[in-house]
Amino acid sequence: MQKVLISLLVLILVSCKKSSKNPVETFSYKTVQQQITTKETQRILFTLAADSMRGRDSKKGGYFKAAAFVTDYFKLNNIKPFYTEYRDSLVTDNLVSYNLVGQLGDYDPKRKTVLIGAHLDHIGIRGKEGDTIYNGANDNATGSTAVLQVGKFLAQYQWKQNVLLALFADEEKGLKGAQQLAKRLRDENIDLAYMVNFEMIGKTLTTGANQVYITGYNRSNMAEVMNIITPNFVQFLPQAKELNLFQRSDNYSFFKQLNIPAQTLSSFDFQNYDYYHKPEDEAAKMDIENMTQIIRTAAFTLAKMLENTIEIKLIDTSSIR
Ligand SMILES: [Zn+2]
Repeated sequence: MQKVLISLLVLILVSCKKSSKNPVETFSYKTVQQQITTKETQRILFTLAADSMRGRDSKKGGYFKAAAFVTDYFKLNNIKPFYTEYRDSLVTDNLVSYNLVGQLGDYDPKRKTVLIGAHLDHIGIRGKEGDTIYNGANDNATGSTAVLQVGKFLAQYQWKQNVLLALFADEEKGLKGAQQLAKRLRDENIDLAYMVNFEMIGKTLTTGANQVYITGYNRSNMAEVMNIITPNFVQFLPQAKELNLFQRSDNYSFFKQLNIPAQTLSSFDFQNYDYYHKPEDEAAKMDIENMTQIIRTAAFTLAKMLENTIEIKLIDTSSIR
């Protein structure tokens, strides 16, 4: 009898241990829905895009206030520093700034690493009359919000790959923060599997709700994989190809330096928002429900990619766009 009890206890312990480690049995889209709430999307977005953040530019100091908010969020949600105090410093136009880099769980150098990022900075304060604060709600408080919420969700589980989160500085000064981190990861021999970047996801894509487009659609199997997991989530936007948006956000440095799939998800399609780089780019103008849907779908899709250690591969590299 005692033997039976002991083996039962062992079985329970083993299964408990398994369920806390193995995401397969513990998350479903419903879990994601319950955990990533509109309320929190709203709270983070309105904080990062508040007037008190002064357009999140390093020169007038607003960037560092936003960085402090991100640091607190990381600490609260079990996201550990990948570098001391999360900071990866750089100097742009004689001003010191830093990216924030967090890791989920323990970093194992033997494993491949997945990087999820967004730029945190915006263009600060400009002009003298009227509304001088460029809040950068869509660009890119929304993408930053996505990285924080997706990161918080993923941080609950153990994955077979390392997962890093990065909030970039000085994107608006020429993609400087991402350039710095990409070079550093390359020099430190971090084995990156792929990079997913979030840019401007606060408006509803003209083709439909809960959708994004991906830059460099044909450069890897990332769009295909994401659409197998979540049908229709990732669209092809002709203008993204025409304007070569693939090279115009923080994903590009990771492709260039490390020759890995590195692409941006966005829902700004040039028809759905008139306030790109205007002081009116404010939090109240965002479609919060749709944005939350996009973040949930991205979290679910990325979790499935990690759970199944799906290989993302470059394709069609000979063609330029
Ligand atoms: Zn941007």
